[in-house]
Amino acid sequence: MTDLTHFIHGRHVQGTSGRSREIFNPVRGEPTAQVPLASPEEVARAIDSAQEAFGAWSAMNPQRRGRILLKWAELINTHRDELAETLSNEHGKTFDDAKGDIQRGVEVVEFGAGAPHLLKGEFSHDAATGMDVHSLRQPLGVVAGITPFNFPAMIPLWKAGTALAAGNTFVLKPSERNPSVPLRLAELALEAGMPPGTLNVINGDKEAVDTLIEDPRVKAIGFVGSTPIAQAIYTAAAAQGKRAQCFGGAKNHMVIMPDADLDQAADALIGAGYGSAGERCMAISVAVPVGEATAEALRAKLLERIAKLTVGPSLDPSSDFGPVVGADAKERIEGYIGLGVEEGAELVVDGRGVVVEGHPHGYWIGATLFDHVTASMRIYKEEIFGPVLCIARARDYEEALRLPTEHEFGNGVAIFTRDGDTARDFASRVEVGMVGVNVPIPVPIAYYTFGGWKASGFGDLNQHGVDGLRFYSKTKTVSTRWPSGTKEGASFTMPEGS
Ligand code: NAD
Repeated sequence: MTDLTHFIHGRHVQGTSGRSREIFNPVRGEPTAQVPLASPEEVARAIDSAQEAFGAWSAMNPQRRGRILLKWAELINTHRDELAETLSNEHGKTFDDAKGDIQRGVEVVEFGAGAPHLLKGEFSHDAATGMDVHSLRQPLGVVAGITPFNFPAMIPLWKAGTALAAGNTFVLKPSERNPSVPLRLAELALEAGMPPGTLNVINGDKEAVDTLIEDPRVKAIGFVGSTPIAQAIYTAAAAQGKRAQCFGGAKNHMVIMPDADLDQAADALIGAGYGSAGERCMAISVAVPVGEATAEALRAKLLERIAKLTVGPSLDPSSDFGPVVGADAKERIEGYIGLGVEEGAELVVDGRGVVVEGHPHGYWIGATLFDHVTASMRIYKEEIFGPVLCIARARDYEEALRLPTEHEFGNGVAIFTRDGDTARDFASRVEVGMVGVNVPIPVPIAYYTFGGWKASGFGDLNQHGVDGLRFYSKTKTVSTRWPSGTKEGASFTMPEGS
């Protein structure tokens, strides 16, 4: 059993709260480490450190900060395999998928190196007689990120990469299920030249999060996780007058039109539905074939492919996907499979009871397929977050468009079609934040922004890209007049746009 730590002011710091939690290897179903759960005093120390580091980091010219970010990205790449192995061992996703988790995070750090261009202000010469006006984008100060278990590298890097590029210092509170990769990322940041305190990692649970929200020195909260927690944190942070962007759960649909290439659509569904055991906020969990003929043909193609899937150890290259993250997740997902049957959906493939040789205690669930799922069922309405794909048949295009549009969540959606007109209409009318046209998991690249709508996101700016930099900086507008432009005498009226 390894004793994990916090990472404060450039050093590993043992927990002192007396509270801790076990970290499990989901393949073995055994604890491998203990993570300390921080007390308010320990969180305050991480904030002290970030506050102390803020002066020098924010004063450093942004290009020099950018060079440190590039060095950080380079070190993460150098250590990619080691990081991916640690990530797989604590999360359960396959080694190749773990490398992708790291890669999509590194891309945002690389984007941060170009931030000086986007942090430039505006300037208007002679905006009024003898008066110039310019704007500045300034960092907020100490900001915090609270991140979920399912992307232990990508989401911390999305948040920290952007916040640090904008000149803030950062306190990360990663998921208490898999904190080893975030801790290692912080070590590498130090090695890249980031001064101690610029990036701190504090491990913990609600108590640590509450302290981050309540401490007035923390100026912004970036959160990703489940919807009830996202909404609660957004509300609490807003009540403290803080900026908050809180991203929540999802139920992503994929509409399959009769003219789609059904082999491509079926392949896409298998990867997007079962990859990472369905534990992705952009996983497809609802397939919406349009018309009975499409539904029947698609179902047959899915069945052929599901029969060939291998669920197995994360580090075994022949595994298509690994175990789910924990015993509690397995129990919840199996509960939903039972519920679907009770609700009257047709359980076409049942992933419960899968046995993986040599790993009797792993948190295994095989690919599961429901058909004839309707919009009133809880397995349709709620996020299952496991390898469970539901087919909800639609009579026509309008009905297919209504399903994701009227769903409580609005993270991602996809349409598979060869018809440009239909795709264009869908992208324009669907009430979902990220849309794929023949792309099953439309996670926007680093220089675009990521964010869901409705119950999938609280706050008004997306993550990374230009929105991310705006979230982590504030605008100051300066009006300047020098003596030669000043009119004589006092003025008692509002100037009228002179
Ligand atoms: P979670 O909500 O349980 O935990 C997320 C974070 O919140 C963790 O750091 C956790 O320690 C903290 N937390 C948990 N309970 C808390 C409480 N009561 N008060 C304060 N903090 C608390 O989520 P998870 O299980 O780690 O992650 C899976 C969820 O995240 C899914 O719902 C998934 O859809 C969502 N997710 C969303 C996105 C997105 O961008 N929209 C991306 C990834 C994951």
